[in-house]
Parts: sequence; C-alpha cells; structure tokens
Amino acid sequence: MEYEAIIGLEIHVQSKTESKMFCSCSTEFGAPPNSQVCPVCLGLPGALPVLNEKVVEQAVKAALVLNCDVLKVSSFDKKIYFYPDLPKGYQISQYYQPLAKSGYVDIKVKNKRRRVRIRHLHMEEDVGKLIHQKGMSLVDFNRASLPLIEIVAEPDIRSSEEAGEFLMCLRSNLRYAGVSECNMEEGSLRCDANVSLRPLGTRKLYTKTEVKNMNSFKHVMKAIEYEIKRQKRSVKKGEAAVLHTRCWDPERGVTVPMRGKAPAPCISHSDLGPVILDEEFIASLRSQLPELPLDRSERFIQQYGIPASDASILTSSKELADYYEECVKLYKKPKVIANWIMSDLLRELKEKDIGIRECKVSPEHLAEMITLIDKGSISGKMAKDVFVEMFETGEKASQIVKEKGLAQISDKEALVKIVDKTLQENPKVVEDYKKGKEKALGYLVGQVMKETKGRANPKLVNKLLEKKLK
Ligand code: ZN
Ligand code: MN
Repeated sequence: MEYEAIIGLEIHVQSKTESKMFCSCSTEFGAPPNSQVCPVCLGLPGALPVLNEKVVEQAVKAALVLNCDVLKVSSFDKKIYFYPDLPKGYQISQYYQPLAKSGYVDIKVKNKRRRVRIRHLHMEEDVGKLIHQKGMSLVDFNRASLPLIEIVAEPDIRSSEEAGEFLMCLRSNLRYAGVSECNMEEGSLRCDANVSLRPLGTRKLYTKTEVKNMNSFKHVMKAIEYEIKRQKRSVKKGEAAVLHTRCWDPERGVTVPMRGKAPAPCISHSDLGPVILDEEFIASLRSQLPELPLDRSERFIQQYGIPASDASILTSSKELADYYEECVKLYKKPKVIANWIMSDLLRELKEKDIGIRECKVSPEHLAEMITLIDKGSISGKMAKDVFVEMFETGEKASQIVKEKGLAQISDKEALVKIVDKTLQENPKVVEDYKKGKEKALGYLVGQVMKETKGRANPKLVNKLLEKKLK
C-alpha cells in the first residue's frame, strides 16, 4: 500500500519590540541573567499587565503578510500549567479569540505552485529559560514575557521539501515586514511539526506525532523525513499508535519519545480587556508594508529581464533587493549587475560572514567599477581582483587601479613593441602558426599578457598579433 504524509506546522516567532509584552522591561538579547525582570513579568502578587501596543502592531503586520483576516476583537486567556520556567503558573495567550484567521502562504516546489493555509495566528508571551549545569537547574527570566506570535498552519504540507519551502517563504515575508529576525539558531523562530500518514487516496488518518526541538530548517526537514519512515514501518508492523510528542536528536538523526502531553486548561484573563482594532489602525499598518518577496521577484523578472533563479536570489532579503535596485538605477545593464552581486558580492559576504548592510562596496562603487570594464580601463579578469580590494577597503575602483598601477594597457604603440619582442623571442611558435597550428596564437597572446603582468588589453593583443603574423 502507498501512503501519503500529512504535515502541519506550528511556528512561534519572537516579534521585534523594544520592551516586553506587558511591562517596560527591555527585550535586548544577551543581558546577564534575571537583569531584565520586574514584578509584572515575574508574576509577583498584585502586579498588573498592560498590553504593549507595538506588540499588537507587529502581530497585525505578520497577519497581513500571511494573508490572514485580522479580527476586530480578540482577547487574552491564561493557559494554566506548572513548570519552573513559568513564574505566574500560567502563560498569557489567545486561545478563545485569536488575533487573526484564515491566511495562506503560496509556495513553489518543483515548479508547482501550492497553497498552504494558515488556520490562525495569535499573540502570546514567552517563558523563562532553564539552564541545567553541574547538577543544578537554574532559571533566567529575561525571556519571560517576551512577545511571541504563534502561527498554526493547516496540515496542507505533504513532504519535507514542502515544509522547508513553506518555512523559507514564511520567514522572508516576516523579515520583509520587519516583524521578526526569524533566526532559528537564536530561537526567534521555533517550529514544531505534526506528522501523520494515511493510505493514498483515502481520508482516513493514522494517529499523529508531534516533533519538537528542531533548531534549523535542515533539522525540520530531516526530522519529518525520519518520522515518515518510522511511521510507515510501524503501520506495516501493525503497531498500535498513540498520540505523543517526540524530540529530534540531531546527533543521532532520530526522533525519540518525550513526555506524554496533557492539554493545558485555558481560562479568560480578567485583568486584560479585549483587543479592539479599528479599520483605520489596520489600514495604516497595511500601508507600511513593503512589496513582498514573491511579488518583487516577479517584478524583477518583468522589469529587468533577468532569469527567475536570479530574481529569487536577489529578493531573498529586502536589503539585498534594495541594493540591487540601487545599482540598476546607476548602471543600466541589470543582468551584468545581477552576475556581479550573485557571484562576487555574495561570495565575499559569505566568506566574511557579514550582511549586505555592513558591506563597504556601495552601489555607486559597484556601478563605477563595471563602467571601468566597459571603457576598457580594466579587464573583466582584473576587475575580479579590484572588487576584492574594494570589498576590503571600501575604496573606489578607479582609486585602487591608480594606486596599484593596474590600468589596462590599451595603448597601441606600447603594445606593438611588446608584440614584436614576443615574436622575435619565439620563432618556433611563429613557424608552427604559419603551418596552420591555430593554438600557437593563444600561446603568443599568453606570452604578451605575461610580459605585461596581465595588464594588456587581450582583445587588442589578439588583433595586433594576427595582423603581424599575416
Ligand atoms: Zn518586566
Ligand atoms: Mn504557543
């Protein structure tokens, strides 16, 4: 029998705000443990939470870029459970009336467009962080009550590949909108996967498992693949499946069973009134949203005539796409710019492990360098070295060329002398050429280039040599 996988993802993203969700404590990452706490986020008796408006703005933006309907009225609840990282004994979340519903993300896998629906999106607070060391368990409440956005997708995903693509699209939309850094390694994006199987073509569903503890897209995909294989084996063996949570072990590449899960009871939070949004508030946030990656990529293909694969790389982040468009304004050959960015610029950024924002090569400088190639002042090959120098120093190409004496020799008279000398020194090669050995010409060009330390204009050298040999 053939089976298909039914996969639903639940994503938590930490939204970017200056202060926590219900108090004025800082959200800055990396501060000493328990230095960013107050009676509110520690849940001390008598403290009252006050909702941070910025948190609502960010969540509404997230809902809009994920094509959700934002509800005019939503409310907060207490999700009650006991755990040492949860100082109040409950988490403030939106259970009964979430902020937004019925969204979707369109993805493209193997050139097929698929829609993954979003069931709902809500705001909730984060918990503290437990640190286990030297036989002790310590707790840091700096993270307690940081704002989170929880996104629950419908089980529309059928493979690990689709899951990976969905997460990429979701992340780039949220990053474009400035909602979150969405950095899995730092925990600002966390993902759990619900995986189950069903016989292909039926509606029957086998019991699902929930997989947690995946801290990169690669791990999410690997864990899903593992879980599909594991479930197929156990279905074939006729094992009785139980609903349970599993934990991804990245070292061993397997999922292992975790604690059984009892649903936490939720009651309405009586200290926090409903969140009531008016049309104007939502419209003003909508107007602040940038053009989203998929739209921008399609526009790049149309407007600049570049291949789809280039457009998708260039729009992978808003900053990179902005950089590209700045360059194109200054130099009107979009494909040439795309090539320089995708090969040389991205390579250097990756090597130095920095983002485009810290890049010392401004769009003006890149455009100027390419113009120097067009003018014949430097060859395309020399430009590669000049570019590396520009990247290091932030200097203009013309400056570097001048300082290092790199200018290409396009002076005919100067080159004729070197060509003559080369011909005199290589009588045998000249003979070979005359006997019809085409390759000999290439050798002679090479000798001239060597003599000029690569600075001779190769096209001109070719022309001069051919002329002399005839
Ligand atoms: Zn606080
Ligand atoms: Mn949650």
